[in-house]
Amino acid sequence: MKVAIIGSGLGGLLTAAFLSKKGYEVEIFEKLRFYGGRFTSLKYKGFQISTGALHMIPHGKRGPLGILLKKVGANVEIVDSKPEGELLYGDKSDRSDERIEVRSSVFPLGSKIKFFKWLLKYRMFRSDPYMDKYEKELDELSRKFLKSFLGWSLSIQSSEIKFSKLLAIYRNVVKYNGPGIPIGGCKAVVDSLVEIIKSNEGNIFLKNPVKGLKIENGMIKKLEVKEGWEEFDIFISNIGHEATGKLLGEKYSDEEESRGIKYSISIDRPFIGHTGVLFTLNCEKISGMNEVTNADPSLAPQGKHFLQAHQPLKDVTRVEEEIRSGLEELKLLLKGYDYEILAIQSYFNGWPVNRMMSGRDIGYKTPYSNLFVVGDGAKGDDIEVDGIALGIAEMLEAEFDERIGL
Ligand SMILES: Cc1cc2nc3c(=O)[nH]c(=O)nc-3n(C[C@H](O)[C@H](O)[C@H](O)COP(=O)(O)OP(=O)(O)OC[C@H]3O[C@@H](n4cnc5c(N)ncnc54)[C@H](O)[C@@H]3O)c2cc1C
Repeated sequence: MKVAIIGSGLGGLLTAAFLSKKGYEVEIFEKLRFYGGRFTSLKYKGFQISTGALHMIPHGKRGPLGILLKKVGANVEIVDSKPEGELLYGDKSDRSDERIEVRSSVFPLGSKIKFFKWLLKYRMFRSDPYMDKYEKELDELSRKFLKSFLGWSLSIQSSEIKFSKLLAIYRNVVKYNGPGIPIGGCKAVVDSLVEIIKSNEGNIFLKNPVKGLKIENGMIKKLEVKEGWEEFDIFISNIGHEATGKLLGEKYSDEEESRGIKYSISIDRPFIGHTGVLFTLNCEKISGMNEVTNADPSLAPQGKHFLQAHQPLKDVTRVEEEIRSGLEELKLLLKGYDYEILAIQSYFNGWPVNRMMSGRDIGYKTPYSNLFVVGDGAKGDDIEVDGIALGIAEMLEAEFDERIGL
């Protein structure tokens, strides 16, 4: 059976690895000159500057992506973060005694009781408001952590996520634990998937955008690439529902992206000093940072550390102002450190943080029985690449089960 995959992001490659391993003839078409989409990196001054992701997997090796990578035989080592996170709280930001490890015990009992009250209201009356309604009831530390967590993990504000979706994230953290860093960064993950695909005679065609899809008798029959129209049995799109619809001249979904700004920083000595996330509660713009060289020094040249900071972006007409404010905060945070900003990347308009704001993904199905969507926009009930893995597992089990055997 011939399978065409549109786009070589993490979702397309992970799906292709499973299908090629099970004997499907897989061909991947990618419009750019590199594969991996927003989950790979390009080398600059010896640093692995990522095309999107902060070189982190939300639930490390124990999460849905870690599990699927193992099942498909990908040769990836993931270092689970320790501590999972720390709160930077207070004004004198570079003093380590103002950092608190993220643990349930650091949050005041009053706010925990509030959380259980909301849970009860949700269970009994299906009361499910957006979190901006509830956050006012929280103490200052919990409120600032919520803002920082949503900004770092999802690039959204409390007014953009319902209680039930936050609850799902909380449950997944309890179930799978916190983040991890793949050795070699995002690129190592996609490289290992490509190795599997190629060893199973799958093909990847770079600089070859898919321009259209053709329907015959209610099914997708062909796709248009550089070489002309080509026929396949199954079509898997890794470009989101909206762009997939456009290939058919149809509109079957509106996506509402979440946007952000990422700063890649070279620093002479560790600022964070561990493999977890530093939630910057003392900042207005920057929501968090990580220092991936504490897990894998090879992500930077010898003697340097690689710090990344993330800032959510609400209004695309204010990108430059937002960057100026973000840089001011970084200057305060990194006072006394020798550092260099290597790259400032903004993410919106088709290359966002999330194509579909977290919690609003609409699954892998399309109106056509042989066309499926994987990746961001078709995530399962988890965040970022772990959500992508869950969406793929669901599709493989439901549509390909006897042959895939997940
Ligand atoms: C700043 C930032 C930080 C992030 N941090 C993290 C993190 O630390 N951890 C995490 O888990 N997630 C993170 N994410 C999210 C994560 O990067 C994405 O969820 C994930 O990479 C999306 O993968 P995907 O499968 O949807 O494919 P995409 O990466 O969206 O890839 C789609 C591919 O399709 C190609 N394409 C598009 N149109 C066509 C066409 N017509 N024909 C052929 N090819 C086409 C594109 O060029 C691209 O290569 C972050 C994202 C950003 C932007």
